[in-house]
Amino acid sequence: MITIKEATELFEMPFLDLLHMAHSIHIENFQKNQIQASSLLSVKTGGCSEDCSYCAQSKKAKMPLQSIETIENIVSKAKDAKRMGATRFCMGASGKSPTDEFVNMMCEAVKEVKKLGLETCITMGMLTEPQVKKLKESGLDYYNHNIDTSESNYCNIITTHNFQDRIETIKLIQKYNINLCCGGIIGLGETNEDRISMLVVLANMNPQPKSIPINKLIKIPGTDLANSPDVDVFDFVRTVALARILMKKSYVRLAAGRSAMPEILQAICFYAGANSIFLGEKLLTTINSSVSRDEQMFSKLGLKLMQ
Ligand code: SF4
Repeated sequence: MITIKEATELFEMPFLDLLHMAHSIHIENFQKNQIQASSLLSVKTGGCSEDCSYCAQSKKAKMPLQSIETIENIVSKAKDAKRMGATRFCMGASGKSPTDEFVNMMCEAVKEVKKLGLETCITMGMLTEPQVKKLKESGLDYYNHNIDTSESNYCNIITTHNFQDRIETIKLIQKYNINLCCGGIIGLGETNEDRISMLVVLANMNPQPKSIPINKLIKIPGTDLANSPDVDVFDFVRTVALARILMKKSYVRLAAGRSAMPEILQAICFYAGANSIFLGEKLLTTINSSVSRDEQMFSKLGLKLMQ
């Protein structure tokens, strides 16, 4: 068990020592200069009953439900993702929890996307045990279910469900041996203590999440957090480095927010142990770094996409 005290001592190390430790752990456990790329498609957008303060699809932001992607469209977007260089195709659906009918549709999508030789990931909220069982039988590789922030800060960000609700679905995902993708968002008004606490919760999961998205808040007009204060970049990098140190074998993803990050900040995050990104112009509802910008940055840094 990792304690808050141990994690805090790491987080508060001199910045360069922390980077050095994180980088050393990274290259002991992963191939150097290699980045895993996932691509994300919103399969069902808007009309959500939840009030996640950061999300353009929340009931407060009042985005109406848009049309649901067909399996044919999903497969077509997955082919595009593979051509771009993604090895995993992530499919997101808005809502607190899906209907059984929607889960059945997603199981079909998983089977079709896997035929392309891509790994699959789904995020669609809280699940029942029979739904998790069906997803496992479909061959789903990853389920994303972020804890977002610390347990104590969670109620400041979301009131329509709670931290423990998230943990219940995570336990089911792990019970059925589906790889867990689970991380959080930096910039929700949280303190460094909240960031450390969130990472300690992740690090003490058994097994640890195989994929850890560290998102930097995109301030979306119309959401409660549209005017939240900027995150200190050094604290952001410290969070990435601590994730790497505490979860040595996990892929740490520099996820949402990368489009607003200068290349030099991304480079420092890669040095600190981030080794995964979202590739493609769009995330669920927000823009991502363009593919050409990423190609140029990878060339400048001598980074290669994992095959
Ligand atoms: S994060 Fe998911 S559950 Fe929360 S408001 Fe957005 S779509 Fe709904």
